[in-house]
Amino acid sequence: MDSNFIPGIYNWCDRWCERCSFTSRCRVYEKTENTSNSEPEEFWENLSQCFQETIDLLKNTAEEFGINLDEIEEEIPLEEEEEEEYKVGEEALYQVTNSYLKTARAWLESDSFKAFISKLEEKGELGLITISEAEDKVIALSEAVEVIHWYLFFIHVKSSRALKEKQEDFWDEYPESEKSYNGTAKITKIAIERSMQAWIHLLNQMQEDQDRIVEILALLEKSRKLLEKEFPNLDQFIRPGFDEE
Ligand code: SF4
Repeated sequence: MDSNFIPGIYNWCDRWCERCSFTSRCRVYEKTENTSNSEPEEFWENLSQCFQETIDLLKNTAEEFGINLDEIEEEIPLEEEEEEEYKVGEEALYQVTNSYLKTARAWLESDSFKAFISKLEEKGELGLITISEAEDKVIALSEAVEVIHWYLFFIHVKSSRALKEKQEDFWDEYPESEKSYNGTAKITKIAIERSMQAWIHLLNQMQEDQDRIVEILALLEKSRKLLEKEFPNLDQFIRPGFDEE
């Protein structure tokens, strides 16, 4: 057996191999023969800032727009079979992540982003900002949107999966660090936080769209809080590779 491979590392990752530091130690990556890997550490360092700063900025902007980050709105009713599957707190998590998926998707499919990029390019051509300044902004904004796209479905799908895994009755025998649903919730939380950092970047740049972006961010923040409530021990889970080195 080749000891370089980390057993099971791919079970609790985000499947974004292009941005992963463990490609050389992952059997799934080896099998998919993915060859593109552009310095993932650098990519995530560029995206991230102190997460507390992200939350503080969100709180201030939400207040400005009269949005209550603690309030969970009435959402579309669940289908009958889904209703039977979830308890009240679980249902709220299901609903809010679903709401995020729909609202964020609608924004991504609208012309807002394309129009903003065109305006930036135009400013560069007119000399209102330098060409390289325009290019840097376009690259940074496009990377933020890439992150949002990657985790768009992931957050709802993985949080729903964590809720289902938790319903299995054999978990009592395992420590928190080995309960698979904690691992699934943990990678969901990472996806939420990365998405929030990406949206904050858009919020800072796209003044005209701030009201819509802050509403989307509020859904992510509610998802994050509900996830932590449903999975209070998620941080104890040790993901092979990612949390060991
Ligand atoms: S561990 Fe990394 S390389 Fe392997 S499947 Fe997950 S993201 Fe891809």
